[in-house]
Amino acid sequence: MYAGPGVKTNPDFPIPDKMKAWVLGNPGELKLTEKPVPVPKRAEVLVRIDAVAICATDLEIIDHGPPSSIQGGLPFNKNFTPGHEYMGTVAALGPGVDEYKIGQRVTVEIHAGCGQCKRCREGMYTSCHNYGLNYGDVDKGHRANGFTTDGGFCEYQVNNINTLVAIPDAMSDEEATLVVTAGTAMYGLTELGGLVAGESVVVTGPGPIGLLGVAVAKALGAQPVILTGTRDNRLKIGRELGADHVINVRNENAVDAVKKLNGGKGVDYVVECSGAPNAVNEAIRMVNRGGKVCLAAFPHAETPVDVAHIVRNNIYLYGIRGEGKSATHRAEAFMSQKRFDATKIHTHTFALDDLPTAIRYAKDRVDDAIKVVVKARGVAAHRVAAE
Ligand SMILES: [Zn+2]
Ligand SMILES: [Zn+2]
Repeated sequence: MYAGPGVKTNPDFPIPDKMKAWVLGNPGELKLTEKPVPVPKRAEVLVRIDAVAICATDLEIIDHGPPSSIQGGLPFNKNFTPGHEYMGTVAALGPGVDEYKIGQRVTVEIHAGCGQCKRCREGMYTSCHNYGLNYGDVDKGHRANGFTTDGGFCEYQVNNINTLVAIPDAMSDEEATLVVTAGTAMYGLTELGGLVAGESVVVTGPGPIGLLGVAVAKALGAQPVILTGTRDNRLKIGRELGADHVINVRNENAVDAVKKLNGGKGVDYVVECSGAPNAVNEAIRMVNRGGKVCLAAFPHAETPVDVAHIVRNNIYLYGIRGEGKSATHRAEAFMSQKRFDATKIHTHTFALDDLPTAIRYAKDRVDDAIKVVVKARGVAAHRVAAE
């Protein structure tokens, strides 16, 4: 029977001893297996995972390893379960937990920092100085679900209460998986200063973070919000999420087009979400003097940057990692108030058993896939038909 020291359960939410879980074998190889249902410790709850979205970072981890780090090394063949953009229902409470109730729906952010380092104390828990130190005699209690500890491509996971965000009944499971993505966009704007009402913002790159970056910037009152990208279908979604102008960089020079739209001057802020090789050089030319650039995507290769232009123009550059400073809570507030409809970027749902198919859709953008979600319950598996 499922139990642990001081753990509270409820007969209305019976918990099995074992669960389905996908684990990472060699690079690119996921296997469906069984694992014991984990048991929450102090300040943790057990979450029954109801939906999990696939992120580009999951694809990186599954094929290449980093930024995942399991026991100080690559995540392969360590019985590791990836997946980090999940939501679900609180199914058991660790000792002393009274902040959440069994049966309550929650979405989760990824990082529970160690709580004791300098950065965690500043709210920058995604830059925890004890990142990945959660094993053996270097165990500092750090967790980043699906990065340094088991994640969400399974049926249950433990989460620190600091990583939980309560969600309203009206928010669907699929929408709730997108809170953390909106939270990342919110964190970027927070780091740029947060007060973007009446300020001009460019978002470069209409991936999930870029599209929700447009939505969050608009909800924060930015004006105008300009989105750049290469695919018209995604730029159209950007417009629906609040972009005042969109620029297809295949048809026009992005820097010139931005300046033209903003009276010849650059904009106040750029949130760079494309990771394109020349993105930083373009971003620093899109902002006006004293403007700020947030880098939310990482190019795969080192890129030369015109530092003299940055210095001459007093431009600020910010790198952000994930969703710090409780930005996820602020993003959820916008979403539960329906300030924007994040579900516009959710395109496909598959059964948990069909994870490899779901990953193929996300990776190859089959059928214009943007956010692909898998669910352990309520969705018929098409395994045989799809493979
Ligand atoms: Zn992600
Ligand atoms: Zn820390």
